[in-house]
Amino acid sequence: MKYGMIATWRMAVEGITEAAKDLNNGATAGDAIEKAIKMVEDYPLYKSVGYGGLPNENCEVELDAAYMDGNTLSIGAVGGIRDFKNPISIARKLSEERFNCFLVGTGAEEYAHKNGFERVNMLTDRAKQFYEKRRKETIEKGLSPYDGHDTVGMISLDTEGSMVAATSTSGLFMKRRGRVGDSPVSGSGFYCDSEVGGASATGLGEDLMKGCISYEIVRLMKEGMTPQQAADTAVSKLHDELTRRRGKSGDLSVVCMNNKGEFGAATNIAGFSFSVVRDGEEPQVYVCDKQENGVTTYEPASQEWLDAYIKRINSPVTFD
Ligand code: ASP
Repeated sequence: MKYGMIATWRMAVEGITEAAKDLNNGATAGDAIEKAIKMVEDYPLYKSVGYGGLPNENCEVELDAAYMDGNTLSIGAVGGIRDFKNPISIARKLSEERFNCFLVGTGAEEYAHKNGFERVNMLTDRAKQFYEKRRKETIEKGLSPYDGHDTVGMISLDTEGSMVAATSTSGLFMKRRGRVGDSPVSGSGFYCDSEVGGASATGLGEDLMKGCISYEIVRLMKEGMTPQQAADTAVSKLHDELTRRRGKSGDLSVVCMNNKGEFGAATNIAGFSFSVVRDGEEPQVYVCDKQENGVTTYEPASQEWLDAYIKRINSPVTFD
């Protein structure tokens, strides 16, 4: 059996590169995914996940995360948790619980504290600067406070054929206190069944949840679609439905992998990037074009694109 990992966005590539080495040495899908997501959570310059994540409208970092075991269908999730270093590890621990496996706010924090998880102030000076800048711009130019987000959503497949899906995010920048998006919600931000495959989403949680998009992708794969067909079908159907009924659709981007290690990605926005690593292949970042006529195209990120990305995440926060 081959192994593989796929994740939303470029920010996951270091994590999956490291975790794939473990998968190659026989690590479980669960250990690999937790390691990879922790690396994204711990990196201060990724401003939409974990430490350094952008705050809500009260300048508080509230984090959502989830973990799903594709063998047992066990799920663990946290919503709106503050001041804990690795929400993904808390979600994973919760997936071992028969009851009370999805906890929010103070309940989640209490659980994390009792179970010895590390408490850290997750608001960095840089995130605070972004907050001040956005608040100023919002007041002056009337920008939507909801621009700016990105969840790490990941699927892993190990050499035993076990699969896990997991997510971690600070959610929408400037969200309202207590707002929870799709990322910790089963079927919306993630879904995984080792007998079929797994899927994960990023974009506007309020819209992704309207189509339970990750469950839908796994369902379509179960019916016989390839991962790419399933991803494209789910995104185009939800995009069209939302446009027809509501006049517009928010950002919808997804990745998926089946239990053979075949993968798919689809998006209704230009520039969605995703990261993949598979047995015998080098880790690769892809950049997508916006879906056209139900088909998403993507190609390996150019060196120029990769360099521009590094420059952008390292650039100082400027006020004009
Ligand atoms: N889906 C996340 C949320 O709505 C944000 C994102 O993925 O960009 O919280």
